[in-house]
Amino acid sequence: MSHVDTEVRPSNFIRNIIDEDLATGKHSSVQTRFPPEPNGFLHIGHAKSICLNFGIAQDYKGQCNLRFDDTNPEKEDIDYVNSIQADVQWLGFQWDGDIRYSSNYFDQLHQYAVELINKGLAYVCFLNGDETREYRGTLKEPGKNSPYRDTTPEENLALFEKMRLGEFKEGECSLRAKIDMASPFMCMRDPIIYRIRFAHHHQTADKWCIYPMYDFTHCISDAIENITHSLCTLEFQDNRRLYDWVLDHLDDFQAPNRTRQYEFSRLNLEYTLMSKRKLNDLVVRNLVTGWDDARMPTIAGYRRRGYTAASIREFCKRIGVTKQDNMVEVAMLDACIREELNDFAPRAMAVINPVKVVIENYPEGQVEIINAANHPSKEEMGKRELSFARELFIDADDFREEANKKYKRLVQGKEVRLRNAYVIKAERCEKDAEGNITTIFCTYDDETLGKNPSDGRKVKGVIHWVEASTAKPAELRMYERLFNDPNPAAAESVDEVLNPHSLTIKHGLVEASLVNAEAEKAYQFEREGYFCADSKDSSKDNLVFNLTVPLRDTFE
Ligand code: ATP
Ligand code: MG
Repeated sequence: MSHVDTEVRPSNFIRNIIDEDLATGKHSSVQTRFPPEPNGFLHIGHAKSICLNFGIAQDYKGQCNLRFDDTNPEKEDIDYVNSIQADVQWLGFQWDGDIRYSSNYFDQLHQYAVELINKGLAYVCFLNGDETREYRGTLKEPGKNSPYRDTTPEENLALFEKMRLGEFKEGECSLRAKIDMASPFMCMRDPIIYRIRFAHHHQTADKWCIYPMYDFTHCISDAIENITHSLCTLEFQDNRRLYDWVLDHLDDFQAPNRTRQYEFSRLNLEYTLMSKRKLNDLVVRNLVTGWDDARMPTIAGYRRRGYTAASIREFCKRIGVTKQDNMVEVAMLDACIREELNDFAPRAMAVINPVKVVIENYPEGQVEIINAANHPSKEEMGKRELSFARELFIDADDFREEANKKYKRLVQGKEVRLRNAYVIKAERCEKDAEGNITTIFCTYDDETLGKNPSDGRKVKGVIHWVEASTAKPAELRMYERLFNDPNPAAAESVDEVLNPHSLTIKHGLVEASLVNAEAEKAYQFEREGYFCADSKDSSKDNLVFNLTVPLRDTFE
């Protein structure tokens, strides 16, 4: 992007830590990872984490792994695995080596669990869910030890093996780390590290009926991959104790420079839901057309809507990385995409509410080809051909029978300039039985082609148009925010905060050149906004355009 100085690296507390670790020789290179759970599409919050992890690897000439954190087989799906890879690459990043899966390490994780049992640091517990909760205590009250806590390692090994062999039911027992039931950190009160799930796994099929928990899996996976800086969001701050405890007690991970976890604040964006679980609800309830609905805050949704990867990366750069929780304004994201599209989007003309114009002094049957610049200041973007003839369409909002001086469009008896073409004057109009204007009769001045509004003529405004015989009908999907509430996550239910006007469909007319519009590539429809052809629903015979972003912020 022209306005972005790519030479200036971001500076933040994590990069400061890395600088220091490299300066002191604690690490000689940097290894990060992006660890999504494949239980949904990636959203704009993930983009923050992707830009951070991959960006650090790039700038420090280190490596960044893509690791699927796939320990919940019931909620995960191979479609999500695929969409996540596509989205990371579309954002402009490439992971090092093969894709990793936590499930690649299930054998090792099982071995490490056995090691903890052998050391008397893990036990099989038969308390049921309610009992476990009761024994855990509260933030004010310490917990109580489970009656199964002092079983011998030999017994626990045998029980854990029975768990693995499927001899217990789901929920009948679990493997717990033996830490401290009085710890002020709830996550340290003998957390469950393995549970029983008779579920088919997208990577390991039916090999396992016991699955390791996130806290046990994540730190070990990081350590196996020699991650140096394990970056996650603030809600894992307490869990760092458990992250370190697990590694502290396994013989393989005693190197002084082993992985460390650092937390940063997650992205919260106004008017936007940022939880895969809640986004999944919108999809399942058909409140949107899918994870890649253009109103969704998913990477796939923004892409389909015409946002560029560069604009999302720029947004992530501008929000920065801190430990401060905050709420980012949507205007910030909009500004990033507008700045980019203003520079790079080709211009085109489309009429959203068409009304016919007949130029009575223009020869019948004549069609003239006008070469129009694709960008007002970028000659290198070339020109395209526009047809001009006696019958045109303009937007109904651009004509008034009478208007005051502030209205700089077409008024009966007055002149206006047609963008890229002639000055016309409205002479009279025709209406239907309900009083709606159906045709505006005009005259044109054949001396005015291609001259700009400073050619000496006092023409107040410039309006856009399309030529009637060549213009193509198009469905225009006009989007507004999906939610009315700046903090939809706080609502009792999404139904309360859903914007009923998030999608309005208009049937307009677009200039003929747009038949060749590439999907997902935004154009500036002059005076209307940025639009891109829809990647799923648009075809040459049935054009469908998505509103990427209006020209100006109409909400504030
Ligand atoms: P969700 O609540 O949407 O399911 P998650 O944290 O459970 O999010 P993961 O797939 O586990 O989703 O996330 C992968 C990585 O992305 C994690 O390191 C996580 O911290 C990070 N991440 C998720 N949401 C955000 C966010 N809003 N801002 C920054 N990073 C995020
Ligand atoms: Mg998660």
